[in-house]
Amino acid sequence: MSEFDISKILNELGEDRAEYQGAVSPPIFQTSNFAFPDVETMRQSVQKELDVPFYTRGNNPTVEILRAKVAALEGMEDALIFASGSAAIAAAVMHVLKSGDHVVCVNKPYSWTDKLLNNLLAQYGVEATMIAGIDPNEWDAARKPNTKLFMLESPNSITFELQDLQAVSNIAKQHGITTILDNSYASPLNQRASDFGIDIVCHSASKYLSGHSDMVAGVLCASRERIEKIFGEEFMTLGGIISPNDAWLMIRGLRTLAIRMERVAKTTPKIVEWLEAHPQVESISYPHSPSHPQFELAKQQQKYPSGQFTLTLKATEIKQVEAFCNALNRFLLACSWGGYESLAFPICALYESENYGNSPLPWNMIRFYIGLEEEAVLKGDLEAGFEAMGDAETSSA
Ligand SMILES: *Cc1c(COP(=O)(O)O)cnc(C)c1O
Repeated sequence: MSEFDISKILNELGEDRAEYQGAVSPPIFQTSNFAFPDVETMRQSVQKELDVPFYTRGNNPTVEILRAKVAALEGMEDALIFASGSAAIAAAVMHVLKSGDHVVCVNKPYSWTDKLLNNLLAQYGVEATMIAGIDPNEWDAARKPNTKLFMLESPNSITFELQDLQAVSNIAKQHGITTILDNSYASPLNQRASDFGIDIVCHSASKYLSGHSDMVAGVLCASRERIEKIFGEEFMTLGGIISPNDAWLMIRGLRTLAIRMERVAKTTPKIVEWLEAHPQVESISYPHSPSHPQFELAKQQQKYPSGQFTLTLKATEIKQVEAFCNALNRFLLACSWGGYESLAFPICALYESENYGNSPLPWNMIRFYIGLEEEAVLKGDLEAGFEAMGDAETSSA
């Protein structure tokens, strides 16, 4: 296997077809427990629950296939698979932080990461400092004697600020601080955490890794030593595991990860470039656009472009934004991303009724995800949106 043989990872790694009567697609081990021929075998198994089937909360052969694939994709020693990305992030963070510890985190992380640090763990004596994190020196400056964790998300999934992963992980290493990266935006194919010395990487596998908008799951990759610790503590105790059925769906989704990412990387920059020249667009935030203030860093850290960007419409009234969104047919109005279907998430949908003041993000901002549709189809759909937006303005005049 060459250093990073993607098709081998996606098609073969972790699978043993001879074990399943040659079945090309591995079976779903839909069982909670595993029986043993004698007491000694049982005794041996319960002592190695991370690696051999005993009870499905710990180890299940279908899920085991995913552990090998996901760890190899990130270039890490081992992985654990969870019921959601949030469960994976919570397990990683709780593995590092104890009462009285301090964490430095990017200031617009995924919303439930924010709540984990600033609400849930704050109740247990964890203190968080939130920083923009664009300049590596900010991480050093925010550090305290009790800082145990740097929590990274590069980029975040609304405004797409990046962190210099190598520089931040170097600072962390100098001070014995652990780094966690939420790498959901990029997928392991576009950005590998192990290339930058990150200690623990998490993904929402509900996005690119599963890739079909038909399941919710999460992954965590780290050294074998850390995985053993997390398994014995947070993983088994909190028990947020993936079901064998969903593990099988995720294995199937992974088969096409490379071609899906390739398609997204081809179409998205073209649509962004076209939108940036559009008279009804105020601005776009997309790491792989030359207009992004961290474009050079994005190209350096992310091998290929991803499909998410944020567009700010040149609108004077919220009803124009609504008209734009309501006229979209191919883009679905929905949260999440990473599936086959293109999506639009208007920030104004987060506002309570007419109270536009209750979000720090502007009402004319829309987060987009470009799926697997043809470029021309998506442009046509967006053009219909712009037309409806223009009409909405005329009718109010
Ligand atoms: C969706 C998402 C999560 C949470 O993952 P779930 O699978 O929905 O629990 C975490 N981080 C980022 C960046 C996400 O987009």
